Amino acid sequence: MEKNQNKNIQEFEFKAEMKQLLNLIVHSLYTHPEVFLRELVSNSSDALNKVRFRRLIDNDILEPESELKISITLNKDEQSISIEDTGIGMTKEELIEQIGTVASSGTLQFLQKIKEEKTTLDASLIGQFGVGFYSVFMVAEQVTIETRSIEKDSKAYRWISKGDGFFTIEEIEKSSRGTNIYLKLKDEHKQFCDEKTIKSILNKYSNFVDFPIYVNSQKVNTVTALWHRRKEDIKEEELTEFYKFITNDYEEPLGHLHLSLEGILNFKALLFIPQSAPSFIFRDFDEKSLLLYSKKVFIQDDCKELLPDYLKFIKGVVDTEDLPLNVSREVTQYSPVMAKINSILTSKILSFLEDWFQTQKDKYIKFFKNFGSIFKLGLNSDFTNRDKLIDLMLFGTSKTQPDEYISLKEYVSRMKENQNDIYYVLGNSRDVIQKNPNIEYFLKNDFEVIYLTDPVDVFTIPQIREYDKKKLVSADKSDIKFDETVSNKPDALSPDLSKSLIDVFKRILGDKVEDVRESVRLVESPVTLVVGSSGMDKQLEKMMQYMDKEFKMPRRILEVNMSHPVIKNLAKRLIADENDEIITISVLQLFEGALLLEGYLNEPADFISRMNEIIFNATKV
Ligand code: ADP
Repeated sequence: MEKNQNKNIQEFEFKAEMKQLLNLIVHSLYTHPEVFLRELVSNSSDALNKVRFRRLIDNDILEPESELKISITLNKDEQSISIEDTGIGMTKEELIEQIGTVASSGTLQFLQKIKEEKTTLDASLIGQFGVGFYSVFMVAEQVTIETRSIEKDSKAYRWISKGDGFFTIEEIEKSSRGTNIYLKLKDEHKQFCDEKTIKSILNKYSNFVDFPIYVNSQKVNTVTALWHRRKEDIKEEELTEFYKFITNDYEEPLGHLHLSLEGILNFKALLFIPQSAPSFIFRDFDEKSLLLYSKKVFIQDDCKELLPDYLKFIKGVVDTEDLPLNVSREVTQYSPVMAKINSILTSKILSFLEDWFQTQKDKYIKFFKNFGSIFKLGLNSDFTNRDKLIDLMLFGTSKTQPDEYISLKEYVSRMKENQNDIYYVLGNSRDVIQKNPNIEYFLKNDFEVIYLTDPVDVFTIPQIREYDKKKLVSADKSDIKFDETVSNKPDALSPDLSKSLIDVFKRILGDKVEDVRESVRLVESPVTLVVGSSGMDKQLEKMMQYMDKEFKMPRRILEVNMSHPVIKNLAKRLIADENDEIITISVLQLFEGALLLEGYLNEPADFISRMNEIIFNATKV
């Protein structure tokens, strides 16, 4: 919204959501308010990188020769700080559009939620939302931006706001290219015009900005790209701060990998694995933290070609000497150099993870818990590294504690002597799986069953098929080869009686089932439904059902436990009177109960009325 005040100054109102966000920023208490400086320096550094990049293509710009730098001026009398860059600058439209949009629809709610939980906000959080610029309103009572864009004939503008929901824009005279941001500091934040304070903040947050930074005309940083230094010369804190700088993460990374390759391919890489996975609303920003440099010049900040999708949680920098400098997005997309870097990085990262797996299991488990769902997708796409990937998979099983995990190698090493296959079962959670009747046999006879609870397992695990010549077999399937010696049930019904009872089940259930069979696997439960030999995994079916409402559950095989008291009672009834009404009711009830357990009982009315009838008879006095 815009209203004319005088000829030159136009007043604008922030969008409603932006206003709320500003209000929250202005009126909160913070830990780490100094983060505003990092945000501004980082914006300046981005703007300078854009000039560096543009200069590779043409020199037909405003002040093509000017030094690329950031100048910070502190003024105690005015209680002010200004940050000026010779970067790409902004046009009027950019001033209105870029400075004033909320990055994600969830941002505001998220911040409000944190605000409700805590009295002080962690300022480092703000940078993560793509609204870093607004952090200035933590410390400034008024902010003035003066900016002139890179094009030769551009005009310059002044933007002013108190963070109260309005801003003004006017055209001004400014001969130099770039942006100057002037902050009139709040009284409680006047420490930010102190030189020593500012220098130490820069030292902490912005040491590796690869443009010179001046404070009151004195250069304060040494500009060497961190990844070009020798491993031994880089301090842990520098790595952490660099990581935070490129990712906006407020936690330190879980680990890093520094590579330097020379030979047929020349590149350096400094890669990080984050401590935790981004929460849902951070996902869009997430992809902007793998930076591609070519001969120390920044090219791209979301370079998807550098790593396969299943490693996209990796952050960092790759700097190559093998790409032309004026490389465009299209070139990086199809360049064979990129494909080679991608494959080398992938194999280095996998070896790095293998090393964690062998020597720092806790770290590896932490990594896997956070990123396992993405990482597993490698099984469906990276066939070159298939074996490595399979060995890096972790699983909970019927024999592990809830927070304990084993690999397939460990599983196989502790398989029972009479066990030929690797058993797994899919389900929403450990609790649900533990109640699945289909694994009763395995639990009773001490066979370990892998519990797959991650939704992506449905797609990834069947990809493994075999490990160490042992088949991966779903415990929900009908065609499992049970060891008859261990499953022998001395108290079961006789074969003849079992057969007659099965015929009765078949007659009553008709085409509701694919087949009815005597069960070997059941211990506690009277019946269960299993998947026929050609059927798909139950979880995969659920997924199909979710995606396609018309999807019908394929028919199942009903297995009957011939040593279960309920089944034995039915057999007795059958001998006494083969037309006994209670047999029909019980068979239907058992079948629908099994359906219910699987979440497939779509019309429960009959089930309930039969149950009521049973209760009625049982409660008769
Ligand atoms: P982000 O940097 O995460 O995009 P910000 O709120 O910090 O979010 O900045 C918003 C946008 O404003 C930037 O993306 C950029 O387009 C523009 N901007 C901010 N500072 C500068 C600057 N010093 N020079 C040029 N453009 C800038």
